[in-house]
Amino acid sequence: MGGWAIAVHGGAGVDPNLPPQRQEEAKQLLTRCLNLGISALRSNLPAIDVVELVVRELETDPLFNSGRGSALTEKGTVEMEASIMDGKGRRCGAVSGLTTVKNPISLARLVMDKSPHSYLAFSGAEDFARQQGVELVDNEYFITEENKGMLKLAKEANTILFDYRIPLVGYETCGAGVESPLHMNGLPISVYAPETVGCVVVDSQGICAAATSTGGLMNKMTGRIGDSPLIGAGTYACDVCGVSCTGEGEAIIRGTLAREVAAVMEYKGLGLQDAVDFVIKERLVSGSRERERHTQTDRHFLLS
Ligand code: ASP
Repeated sequence: MGGWAIAVHGGAGVDPNLPPQRQEEAKQLLTRCLNLGISALRSNLPAIDVVELVVRELETDPLFNSGRGSALTEKGTVEMEASIMDGKGRRCGAVSGLTTVKNPISLARLVMDKSPHSYLAFSGAEDFARQQGVELVDNEYFITEENKGMLKLAKEANTILFDYRIPLVGYETCGAGVESPLHMNGLPISVYAPETVGCVVVDSQGICAAATSTGGLMNKMTGRIGDSPLIGAGTYACDVCGVSCTGEGEAIIRGTLAREVAAVMEYKGLGLQDAVDFVIKERLVSGSRERERHTQTDRHFLLS
């Protein structure tokens, strides 16, 4: 028995430019989830159970972009996705296009444990959820007033939001309806796009696991699948590390970032930080916003 480690993320972390109250809420939620994971690890729960437990909690709280509080599609609906991976045996499960499953991460876990497959999506995934008896809710449950406001802004700015602040053009096109940057047509809006969540753990047996859950990008096309449910892109775990990514999914997919970090550690013998730095430098497209964001902070990758 050795030591254990845990990392939890709600997107890129707490942006110092966010309103202090929102920063505080984010810190409190992350701390609560971190403590939940720590207690579970102290009780010797396996890594895979801990990452599921922590991400479920983040999905249930509406603050971040997963489960309740998920980003909305261009049609104002929620389509969620999640993935989970157990470093022991490299087992994995993933789901996409969920509209009624309260905790997508637990369905991903069931895909891993109870189906012959690794990845189920849309109606097939929902059928499987019913079969497994997981908790289902109306799509409305996932939709928050904040996110409706954010979608409206995204549409007015004609953009898909993955950044944390509303682009200036969003304010400009709001016109006379803007009461303050936090209100539009009487509707409260956030000044940031909601962010994806994830958890990475090494348990006392040295086993790594990783889990990621998201509603994707605000104003995304219906049917869009991002990096978060893709094993090797948004999530990966093996015997050397666990990875949960957040950022612009299309760039993360192109770079197969999560697996690249593990591969660099395995084949190049780099340590964790060096592997992350290497992958960010080599695999994120030069000059893209993704690269800019990743080089600002490595909190986009949480690794154990
Ligand atoms: N990676 C997510 C996606 O593209 C978004 C995020 O990390 O906030 O769906």
